[in-house]
Amino acid sequence: MIDLRSDTVTKPTPAMRAAMANAKVGDDHYREDPTVAELERRAAEAMGKEAALFTPSGTMGNALALLTRGRPGGAILLDKECHIYVYEQGGYAALAGMNPLLCDSPNGCPPTDFVLEYGRRTALRYPPASLICVENTHNRRGGAVIPPDDLAELKRASEQVNLPIHMDGARIFNAAAALDLHVRQLTQYADTVQFCFSKGLGAPVGSALAGPSGFIEQARRNRRLLGGAMRQAGVIAAAALVALEEMPKRLHEDHANARRLAERLQAIPELRLNPDDFPTNIVIVHTKRVGASAPEASDALKQRGILTSIYGPAMLRFVFHNDVSNENAAFAADAAYAYFEKLAAELR
Ligand SMILES: *Cc1c(COP(=O)(O)O)cnc(C)c1O
Repeated sequence: MIDLRSDTVTKPTPAMRAAMANAKVGDDHYREDPTVAELERRAAEAMGKEAALFTPSGTMGNALALLTRGRPGGAILLDKECHIYVYEQGGYAALAGMNPLLCDSPNGCPPTDFVLEYGRRTALRYPPASLICVENTHNRRGGAVIPPDDLAELKRASEQVNLPIHMDGARIFNAAAALDLHVRQLTQYADTVQFCFSKGLGAPVGSALAGPSGFIEQARRNRRLLGGAMRQAGVIAAAALVALEEMPKRLHEDHANARRLAERLQAIPELRLNPDDFPTNIVIVHTKRVGASAPEASDALKQRGILTSIYGPAMLRFVFHNDVSNENAAFAADAAYAYFEKLAAELR
C-alpha cells in the first residue's frame, strides 16, 4: 500500500532510531532531561524565539497557546478552515473558554479588514479578542503557503489592535521550503509558533511551541495542567532533534511528488485542478466534479493500492512524505489519473 493519508504516518528513520537508542535522558518534569533541553534550545533558535517547549502533539501546542493567551469569555480570530477550529475538539472553547470569530480567505490568512473590525470592538459590549491565529502551511486549503507579504500585513493589522499572533506552523518547514526562505523569515511575524516534528519532518512523536520566555514558562505550567509534562522524554526528543536537523532539506522532494500528481490530474478538465494551488506536499481533489463521493473514490483508490484521506463528502486529500519513494509517487499519480479519467470519460 502507498500510504498518502497523511505525513504523520512516517516511520522513524534509521538515524532517528539510533539517536533514540543512545539518548541521554532524565526526568523532564524536574528539568533534568538534557536531550529535551537541547531540543527546546534548538527549536527556539530555529523559530527565532526566546524559548520553546516540547509537547506530545501539535494539538497540545496550539491548546497551550490558546490557554496561555486566552481569557474565558473572550474571542480568538481565525480562519474557518483552520486546524484549530476544525480538528482540535473545540479546545479553544472546551479548554480556553474562547469564542471563535471566523474569516474566510483564499489562503487562510486573516485579512486586515477582519482583524481591524473585530479587534476594535469594545470590551464592554463584545467578547474581547485576545489572539489571532494563522496556519502556515494551510492544511485544508491544499497546503497553501502564506507568504511574508501577507504575514507582514497581518502583523501590521494586529499591532493596530494590539493583539498577539499565534502561528499554527505544523508544516512551517514546508512553507519555508516552497518559498525558498529561512523559516525565521516567516515566523518573525508571529509572537508564538507551534510546529510539528511528527509531520513532514518524520519524527515519531512531538511538537514544539516557541515564543517569549515568560509566555513559555506559563505554557509549561499549562502543559502540566493538560497532563503533558513528560518524564524521560529525551527518548522521543532525540528523534525530533534528528528531524529538525536532517529533514527540512528534503521536503522539496515531497513537493515535487505532489506537483507531479497535480499535473497529471490537471489533464482531466472536469476536475478543474490547478497545480499552482498545491505548492507543498498536499493535493486535494473535489471528487463530485467527476461524479464520485470521497468515500467511493477513496475505496476505489485503495483497490489500486493507494490510501487517501476523506476530507469532506466530496474532498479527497493526498499527502506526500518521506516514506513515499519517487517510484511510488509516480505509480500513485498514474493510478489516480487512470481512475479519475475513467470517471470523467463516463460523463463526457
Ligand atoms: C496535524 C496538525 C496539527 C496538530 O498536530 P497533532 O500532532 O496531530 O496534534 C495542528 N495543525 C495543523 C495544521 C496540522 O496539520
